[in-house]
Amino acid sequence: MLSSDYGDEKVSEVLTKIVFINQLNEQEKQQWLAQIKTNLPEEIVVLSSDIASTDTEYVDIAIVANPSPEELARFQNLRWVQSLWAGVERIAPMLSDKATPLVRLIDPTLAQTMAESVLAWTLYLQRNMATYQQQQSEQLWQALPTVAAKDLRVTVLGVGELGVKSLNLLGKLDYQLQSWSRTEKHIEGVAHFSGEDGLSKVLKQTDILISLLPLTDATRYLLDKEKLGLLPHGAQLINFSRGAIIESEALIEKLDNGHITHAVLDVFEQEPLPVGSTFWQHPKVTVLPHISAPTNKETAVKIVADNIKQYRATGKVPDAVNMKLGY
Ligand code: NAP
Repeated sequence: MLSSDYGDEKVSEVLTKIVFINQLNEQEKQQWLAQIKTNLPEEIVVLSSDIASTDTEYVDIAIVANPSPEELARFQNLRWVQSLWAGVERIAPMLSDKATPLVRLIDPTLAQTMAESVLAWTLYLQRNMATYQQQQSEQLWQALPTVAAKDLRVTVLGVGELGVKSLNLLGKLDYQLQSWSRTEKHIEGVAHFSGEDGLSKVLKQTDILISLLPLTDATRYLLDKEKLGLLPHGAQLINFSRGAIIESEALIEKLDNGHITHAVLDVFEQEPLPVGSTFWQHPKVTVLPHISAPTNKETAVKIVADNIKQYRATGKVPDAVNMKLGY
């Protein structure tokens, strides 16, 4: 029996509860919690810090946003864990020894935001915007050659929720689209590649390379010196997934020797990007503060709430991350 107070609710019988485990700042934490409670009026949703250790056994679902392993480990009876983020490389290792399913955020709104970012920054590279900005700072009046979309080979690595939406939006223009993923795909208007050989092949014929791969054991430092060296001279790059997909030193070397002419980087191995990082000052790098596809609280919580309602109604846990593959 429980007899603790949870906010306004007096809980006096055995009830399952939902815990919200996070390391967000106070304001963010309260905003998320309020949104979750509004969308799940029938549920008791409690912050981890508000649950006494004697009551942790009554919690069956954890909603998490960057949880600490210690906080998560307090809850031993979880049926499943719902992440508020799309990327799960930090939380997956915390659950890999257990049978607890991990459900990540799959939000079409987020995918659409990412697709818009992919299109915007592809155009930025195609139309030399970084160079024109540099020229303006030097008061240099100089036209650069324009490459038409139809002459540009754009490759998306990772053809999941974000990759597919991005390819669809890029497809509105005339780019020569290519993609690469672990398994075979058939996407209209896109030449698809898979496997090691497929990656080497597609890199050799890419003008703008876009990473939308999740960070896993198989993709960590995938784009190393050798792989980056396969890109044609003058290629450009966008990394919107995770910093550790690319070997930073190899990238800087390729930028310095002109092999890669520009990189748009939204994600880094260490975030915020440290003050002394070479990337900040590098003239061939555009640094973004991890903003290519921010989570939209409203749509994200609605999806999470629907997952939970569905689970309560059917007992079926939503599709979970494949722990062996790490995504
Ligand atoms: P997803 O739906 O799981 O798709 C992942 C794609 O990557 C799939 O096509 C998968 O191949 C492919 N893949 C995974 N491992 C691979 C490997 N070893 N070799 C080749 N292909 C591999 O993921 P998503 O929802 O699109 O999200 C992708 C990533 O974007 C997230 O993991 C997160 O890191 C990042 N992200 C960034 C932001 C931001 O603001 N910067 C926001 C949200 C997400 P198969 O299709 O063959 O399985």
